[in-house]
Amino acid sequence: MKRVYNFSAGPSMLPLPVLEKAQQELLNYQGSGMSVMEISHRSALFTDIIKEAEALLRELMNIPSNYRVLFLQSGASQQFAMVPINLMTGSKVVDFVHTGSWSKKAIAEAKKLGDVRIIASSEDENFTYIPKVEKSMIDPKADYVHITMNNTIEGTVFKEIPDTGDVPLVTDMSSSILSEEIDVSKFGLIYAGAQKNIAPAGLTVVIVRDDLIGHAPADTPAMFNYQTHRDSHSLYNTPPTFAIYMAKLVFEWIKEAGGLSAIETVNREKAAMLYNYIDASKLFTAPVSPESRSLMNVPFVTVDGNKDLEAAFIKQAEAAGLHTLKGHRSVGGMRASIYNAMPIEGVEVLIAFMKKFEQQHT
Ligand SMILES: *Cc1c(COP(=O)(O)O)cnc(C)c1O
Repeated sequence: MKRVYNFSAGPSMLPLPVLEKAQQELLNYQGSGMSVMEISHRSALFTDIIKEAEALLRELMNIPSNYRVLFLQSGASQQFAMVPINLMTGSKVVDFVHTGSWSKKAIAEAKKLGDVRIIASSEDENFTYIPKVEKSMIDPKADYVHITMNNTIEGTVFKEIPDTGDVPLVTDMSSSILSEEIDVSKFGLIYAGAQKNIAPAGLTVVIVRDDLIGHAPADTPAMFNYQTHRDSHSLYNTPPTFAIYMAKLVFEWIKEAGGLSAIETVNREKAAMLYNYIDASKLFTAPVSPESRSLMNVPFVTVDGNKDLEAAFIKQAEAAGLHTLKGHRSVGGMRASIYNAMPIEGVEVLIAFMKKFEQQHT
């Protein structure tokens, strides 16, 4: 059986050694005679898994001790609502940086609970860049500032974390968490759906500063209150046990690879190879402005926007074992998502294929 290079934006590739380890342990986890999928979330075996997963994530991201790690469900999409429910509790004003489809959804949810000010936006240029965020733009009374760190669909990333002063900075890091070193202490809250860089779908990781928990209104449903999950160590109800186990294996894989600095070096190399080729190509072009380019999601189009040629490219790439290169339906063209689990060889094979295709069509 041959595995393909899967450039899907999410759910996406998982590291092969992680899948192999999971396969090996699938039917009989540590001599229990049961699969991880079958053991109680209250069992000692699972308690060890969730504790180890948290400890590894703390170590990898260097998470300060005054931050909680919560293992939740319902994706980043639920966090679009849960963040304002829990944090929009003072002035009920929040400042958003609008950088694309995902920030749009987050904004829509926050608007249901208070006043949203868009302090910066890149909508004027089709979200192909990250707007500059100055401290002077921020309302000092705002409950928080929200940014979408890496814009999965548009292929942009914040290269600099905005200085928001005393106003907590909240970020959706779904598609860039664990891809590079990051100073967690600059954020009040980080959330990420697992299915890009962490684990299979079903798990959502929230990293939140202690003092931001405990302010949700008294009538907040328990499942929507961070306090519930903090107090019960993410075991208030049945958590996504198998996804948490997979996350633990991914964290171990990252640690073995040398941690985030080593992972970042490889990610920079992969992205540079691909952008350098595209920038030099006569057939393909990358629409995102160079200073805002994502290391994880690389959108590209044909120079003259030839839809038929793009469709042929996507089809022939798939036949060559390069899967899911179609761009998001809202932007068209192509997109190569090159998360942590995409090996350098996958990017090399993609570039070789693009070069061949270019020779045939220019
Ligand atoms: C994938 C993604 C989402 C949506 O995540 P769900 O887990 O499907 O809710 C939100 N934000 C970003 C940046 C994403 O990449």
